[in-house]
Amino acid sequence: MPLYEYYCRVCESRFELLRSMSRSDESATCPSGHEGAERVISVFSALTRSADGEVSSVASSCGSCTTGDCGSCGIA
Ligand SMILES: [Zn+2]
Repeated sequence: MPLYEYYCRVCESRFELLRSMSRSDESATCPSGHEGAERVISVFSALTRSADGEVSSVASSCGSCTTGDCGSCGIA
C-alpha cells in the first residue's frame, strides 16, 4: 500500500498513513484522534525524508537521470 502524508489542522502536525490508492483522497484521522485531516502532496517532504534513509521516493524522481546515483547526479 502507498504511503500518504496528511495534515491535521487541530494539532497542526503532519503524519503519514498507509492507505489504498482509492482511499487516498479521503480525510484521515490523526494519531491524536482528530478527524478531518487533509492529504498533503509535497515533493519537498519526500526530499526531506531522504535524510532519514528513505530514498525510494527520491530515486523515482530521478527517472531521467542516467547515473542511477543522486550523489553523483548534477541535477540533484
Ligand atoms: Zn490532530
